[in-house]
Amino acid sequence: MTAVAETILVLNAGSSSIKFELFDVAPGDRLASRFSGQIEGIGVRPHLYARQAGGETLVDRTVALEEAADVERAMGVVEAWLAETLDGPPAAVGHRVVHGGPVHAAPTAVDERVLATLETFVPLAPLHQANNLAPIRSLLRRRPGLLQVACFDTAFHRGHGELADRFAIPEALWEEGIRRYGFHGLSYEYIASRLPELAPEIARGRVIVAHLGSGCSMCALREGRSVESTMGFTALDGLPMGTRPGQLDAGVVLHLMRAKGMDATALERFLYHECGLKGLSGLSNDVRVLLASEDPRAKRALDFFTYKIAQMTGWLAAALEGLDGFVFTAGIGENAPTIREAVAHRLAWLGMSLDPRANAVHGPLISAPASRIRVYVIPTDEELMIARHTLAILRRCGPEGAA
Ligand code: ADP
Repeated sequence: MTAVAETILVLNAGSSSIKFELFDVAPGDRLASRFSGQIEGIGVRPHLYARQAGGETLVDRTVALEEAADVERAMGVVEAWLAETLDGPPAAVGHRVVHGGPVHAAPTAVDERVLATLETFVPLAPLHQANNLAPIRSLLRRRPGLLQVACFDTAFHRGHGELADRFAIPEALWEEGIRRYGFHGLSYEYIASRLPELAPEIARGRVIVAHLGSGCSMCALREGRSVESTMGFTALDGLPMGTRPGQLDAGVVLHLMRAKGMDATALERFLYHECGLKGLSGLSNDVRVLLASEDPRAKRALDFFTYKIAQMTGWLAAALEGLDGFVFTAGIGENAPTIREAVAHRLAWLGMSLDPRANAVHGPLISAPASRIRVYVIPTDEELMIARHTLAILRRCGPEGAA
């Protein structure tokens, strides 16, 4: 009988989809992606799709609505398909969990007690946390012996100084957890882990990473550690995004409540889905569409976007007391040379300039030889970061996750 390959399963559950990626643990604990996929349209028109790392489609089929009416049942569909496809269960499962609250500064093995703590953070991230936890709860019940590891978007920022994490509001609210947490931490941690190899000359210096995807934020790294983030209490703050406004005077929210009669539900919908590049352009939340458009509103939205990235760079450079390097990552950061050029142009005063040819082919090094700031494009990989953390806990604590 051949030995069953050791694998790590990574899950990222949202409100209408569960994304998954399976990694093989190769000799020397090297992680190699075997396949990735998702079940999307949960509760509406569920569809299961997966493809091999090489590109070959493994499954592409509609799922009956009653089989995937909610995240928990959809998890059952994914599990059944995995059981058909794999020659044995994964050694451990790593989950992306948006909020680790003030306490979790590192990934953690999850049992009933940890899950109960993570549930208390649901009000801090109402759109994400409950969905992230649903597959954990379902697997804890059905596979009590399986090691599950929660990896948090907030954890990488927990080393911030208190000044960075505070709002100027009464102390009692800080005690209740109303503070700046920062997000996209798994992406920043992955980029920080790549710097020594790809950009050794800045890895121990002061670096700003711009994660520009459907959500956008920036992080200030000193010696590979996060010291400041543009996102705060929620993933609404900081840069404008596809459909979120970023930094917004709290007085605007008060005005919308008073003058337009908007309640919390209406405001939440508005702030998460109707603002940002979509609201500003009136056209689209997708940077590809805006770049291709001749409409002056598209240009205005993109100008605003690069203006705010440049402004926030000044803000983060002040926190770092200088700047050595700048990294672009995620969908827009990795694929849009025009946006990178516009940002660099606005930051010429800081001594940033790009090599147009290197920028056109996405680097990795895209700054001109004379640029004072070294600028890179580095593709992010949050799933691989989760798989690494999960394997580390498996090796440290064993399959039961006992400390
Ligand atoms: P997610 O947060 O969903 O993982 P991504 O990091 O994949 O998001 O980023 C998605 C966004 O990236 C899209 O909304 C789109 O605006 C942008 N994008 C993707 N490809 C390109 C491209 N070639 N040029 C400009 N923008 C792009």
